[in-house]
Amino acid sequence: MASPPNVIVIGGGAAGFFGAIAIAEANPNLRVTILEASQQVLAKVRISGGGRCNVTHSCFDPSELIQNYPRGSKALRGAFTRFQPGDTVGWFDDRGIALKTEADGRMFPTTDDSATIVDALQLAASDAGVRVKTGTAVTAVKRVEADTPKFEVQLRSGEVMSCDRLLLATGSSPQGHRIAKSLGSKIEPTAPSLFTFNIPENKLTQLAGVSVPVAQLKLTVPGPDPSEKKAQTKLHQSGPLLITHWGLSGPAVLKLSAWGARVLKTSRYKAKLSVNWIPNQSLEQIQTQLNQAKQDAPRKQISNHRPFLFPQRLWEYWVHRAGINPETRWTELSKKALMGLSQELHQAAYEVQGKGVFKDEFVTCGGVSLKTVNFKTMESKACPGLHFAGEVLDIDGVTGGFNFQSAWTTSWLAGQAIAESLQP
Ligand SMILES: Cc1cc2nc3c(=O)[nH]c(=O)nc-3n(C[C@H](O)[C@H](O)[C@H](O)COP(=O)(O)OP(=O)(O)OC[C@H]3O[C@@H](n4cnc5c(N)ncnc54)[C@H](O)[C@@H]3O)c2cc1C
Repeated sequence: MASPPNVIVIGGGAAGFFGAIAIAEANPNLRVTILEASQQVLAKVRISGGGRCNVTHSCFDPSELIQNYPRGSKALRGAFTRFQPGDTVGWFDDRGIALKTEADGRMFPTTDDSATIVDALQLAASDAGVRVKTGTAVTAVKRVEADTPKFEVQLRSGEVMSCDRLLLATGSSPQGHRIAKSLGSKIEPTAPSLFTFNIPENKLTQLAGVSVPVAQLKLTVPGPDPSEKKAQTKLHQSGPLLITHWGLSGPAVLKLSAWGARVLKTSRYKAKLSVNWIPNQSLEQIQTQLNQAKQDAPRKQISNHRPFLFPQRLWEYWVHRAGINPETRWTELSKKALMGLSQELHQAAYEVQGKGVFKDEFVTCGGVSLKTVNFKTMESKACPGLHFAGEVLDIDGVTGGFNFQSAWTTSWLAGQAIAESLQP
C-alpha cells in the first residue's frame, strides 16, 4: 500500500502548531510532522503576555481589525473574513478553553495562565495525530522537480526528510528567511517592533510607575539627512502612558514604536516626542483652568494646590519642568509662567535617545514579502507546495493580541489549503 502524503511543518511555535492541527483535522489521511529546532515547543506562547498569553483581541470586524497591523493590513483584509478573533474564541471554546476580555479589549484564558493555551495546542495536535520532533533544526530545503515528493528537507543532524507539502512557520528566525529566500521568496529587511522609549531625564525617570490613562503623543523621526525636514516622519498615537526607570512606555508608546519600527531603526532610535498630558482640553481651556486656580487659591503654593486630577508627584514634575519654583504662590504666578506651564501640559518636548524592552510582548517586522504569497492559500507564488504562516511573514501588529491573531489566521488558512490540495 502506498504511504500517505506527507506534510512537514518547520517550526513548533503558535503558527506551526495551529497550522499542523488544521491540516491534520481537515485531512486525517495525511502524515503531519512538526520539526522544532529547540528542545521546547511553543516557547513564546508560554512566556507571552507576561505569562498570561494575550491570545487575541475582541475586535470582530475585519476592516477595524486590520488597522492594528503596521505591516500586512491590506493582505490580511480578506484573510480575516475567513478566520478572525471570533473564530479563535470558538476554536478554543470547542476545546474547553474559555477566554475572557479585559477592559482594553485584550483576551486571555480565564485561568490567566499561558500553560492553558500551550496544553490545549499540544493536546489538539496529539489528538489529530500530529508528530512533533524537537531538537530538529532544518538547515536547508530543496525543491525536487518531481511531482511527489516535492521537497527534500535537510536537518542539522545530516538526515534528509522528504515531503509533499511544506509549511514554513519559523517565526523571525534568520534561518527561516534564508530557506524562504532559497525557494524564491523576497525577504523584507527586519527591524524590532514593540519597544519602549529611552528618555534619559532624571526628573522623569524618578517618577517610574506613574501612569496617565490617556495622553496624546506626536513622534518626529528624522530622515537619513537630519537637516532635510521633508524626510521627517511624523506619527501620532494616543492611549495610556507609563513612566518607567528608562523613560516612557505604555500602549501609546508601544503603538508608536510599531508604526515607526523601520524609520526608528534608521534613525538609530533618536527622535523628538511631544506629549499632550491632558488631551481632552485645548491649550486655552488649560490656561482658563490655571487662571481659575489662581483665583481659587491665590495664597497657596503652586505645589500644594493642583487644578487637575493627576498624581501629586506628576503635578510637581510639570511645575518643575515649566521652570517654576514650587513655593511660588498662585497669585505670584506671572502670565508668562502660566503660559509656560500650559505649554508643558499641552505639548511637553522630549528627546528619545534609544529603545528599551517591553517584556510582555515583542515582535520583528519584516520577513517574507507578502507580494510573493497567495493570501487565499498562504502558498508561495514562486514555489508551489510551499506555504507560510506566522511571524516569518512581513506581518506584525501592535500590542494587544494582534500578533497571535495573525499567526492563528495565516496558519489556519495555510492548513485548509494544504489539506485540500492533498485530498485523494
Ligand atoms: C516575550 C513575548 C511576549 C509576547 N506576547 C504576546 C502576546 O501576549 N500576544 C500576542 O499576540 N503576541 C505576543 N507575542 C508575539 C508572538 O509571540 C509572536 O507573534 C508569535 O509567537 C509568532 O508565532 P510563530 O509561530 O510565527 O513564531 P515563533 O513563536 O517564534 O515560533 C517559531 C518556531 O520555529 C522554530 N524554528 C526557527 N527556525 C527553525 C529551523 N530552522 N528549524 C526548526 N525550527 C525552527 C523556533 O525555534 C520557534 O519555536 C510575544 C512575543 C514575545 C517575544
